[in-house]
Amino acid sequence: MILTVTLNPSIDVSYPLEHLKIDTVNRVKTVRKTAGGKGLNVSRVIHMLNHEITATGFIGGYFGKWLENQLDRDGIDHDFFPIDAETRSSIAMLHDGGEQTEILEAGPTIAAEDAEKFLSHFDSLLDKSDLITISGSMPQGLPADYYTQMIAHAGQKNVKVLLDTSGATLKSALEAPVKPLLIKPNEEELGGLLNRDVDKTDYTALKHDLMDPIFDGVDWIVVSLGAAGAFVKHLDKFYHAAIPKIKVINPVGSGDSTLAGLAMGIHDGKSDEDIMKTAMTTGMLNTMEAETGFVNPAKFDEYFAKVTIESY
Ligand code: ADP
Repeated sequence: MILTVTLNPSIDVSYPLEHLKIDTVNRVKTVRKTAGGKGLNVSRVIHMLNHEITATGFIGGYFGKWLENQLDRDGIDHDFFPIDAETRSSIAMLHDGGEQTEILEAGPTIAAEDAEKFLSHFDSLLDKSDLITISGSMPQGLPADYYTQMIAHAGQKNVKVLLDTSGATLKSALEAPVKPLLIKPNEEELGGLLNRDVDKTDYTALKHDLMDPIFDGVDWIVVSLGAAGAFVKHLDKFYHAAIPKIKVINPVGSGDSTLAGLAMGIHDGKSDEDIMKTAMTTGMLNTMEAETGFVNPAKFDEYFAKVTIESY
């Protein structure tokens, strides 16, 4: 089974507005509310492509119950650790022909006692898992090395970890003795880790960047490049995955969908080429749907066949 970790899930509220008016009332006719947080996007895509998944993290209050009900409705298995504080909401206003204004709650602060108890809960889930994904930023109250602690727990049970995070939490994971199997930094995160600007259009330079000793021990590094696909390192091999030109409807969540594809490909023991093709396909299919973290499985084979992999 694949276990997805979303420590700070959220009810994602989307308000489409023709024009956003400031300092007055904006009325919205169509509201969409989904179970969000990056890890839940990953969960939905894996589930839609018929793989067994369980979602975990911290959940709380009436909003947490609502979120669990949504997952139940979608048939997505979950086993969250309950806390007293309410799960957060995130609001995205889509307005003025393509602009997006977001209001993101920080979410609950996790008490030290709950942080400790979650690790035991996590341990029991690891016993049933072959691979886990950890996505997004951490809730307040947790130390910067909390993901690193989780990766060490997974390492003890030989469970593979795919980590999609940034900043101090990513840095901590790279410095620890037990590394994640895969990381998925974007250009900005890569630049932050290397303390220099990174040019995502120059693949020769990117190859050099990914050889930096800070990545030693991490088998897979996937730098997703939007419409340009992805540049990938697997052990001592480098690839560019190229994708066809497609009509993008909503690119939000494509990085999460890419992680879902990577998780399924690696979990299924596929070849490098097929792992990357799966990930590019899930990323593309997400951009072709209005809903975030959503793919149409019927289109999978058609787009999978259009991805090309070139060694570097
Ligand atoms: P992130 O959300 O992590 O920044 P990207 O924007 O790089 O991720 O997108 C992840 C993947 O989704 C890409 O590698 C690609 O497969 C697909 N994708 C994203 N944007 C586009 C686009 N404009 N056209 C085609 N595919 C896209």
